[in-house]
Amino acid sequence: METVEDVTRMHLVGGNLALDFVNTRTGPPVGPSDDDVLTGYPELVAWGAYAGALTGSEATALRRLSRADPDGARAAFSRALGTRDYLDDIFRSLAAGGAPGAAALDRLRDDEADALGHAQLQGGSTYAWVWRDDHTLARPLRQVVHAAVQLLTTGALDRIKGCGGCRFLFNDESKNRSRRWCSMDDCGTAEKMRRYVAARRTRGGAAPRKA
Ligand SMILES: [Zn+2]
Repeated sequence: METVEDVTRMHLVGGNLALDFVNTRTGPPVGPSDDDVLTGYPELVAWGAYAGALTGSEATALRRLSRADPDGARAAFSRALGTRDYLDDIFRSLAAGGAPGAAALDRLRDDEADALGHAQLQGGSTYAWVWRDDHTLARPLRQVVHAAVQLLTTGALDRIKGCGGCRFLFNDESKNRSRRWCSMDDCGTAEKMRRYVAARRTRGGAAPRKA
């Protein structure tokens, strides 16, 4: 189960399900991505379970459904990649201080309308959308799409940022909005190392050289 391990190696650093979905592609901060953990419908389901969008039994049911309908699963997977592309466009534009394109927002609206058409309102301390009875192959994307709309409509847009060291996007929930890295363990540490090496080089260059 190598592919599932790939999916569960991804760090969920986005602070929002839609941003974590965008972060299933890795690479440098600008330019094309260099790796993608979503290689097929089974990986999409594995990611959904890993990220908390699907329960274990929902994932099992979706795997069974996708084996019974491989063409449908291929189509659902292809749509999921299209969703990831436009979510990437929307949130990367916002992270860069720009405005997302109208076409991407229209696609998000259509996907949200479809998602809510398959949801129920479940009561608790407040009411929330749930997809418990949605047994379609699009199920893994429902909460992703809804999380994107929630972030756009109720989040602080200036908290949506891109990591300084890689292409990951995140919602900066730090008190003083000072977060710069996807994770201090990855890009943050790499940056500290770069600064340390640069500082040593500067000191070394300034020191008198032995003849
Ligand atoms: Zn990073």
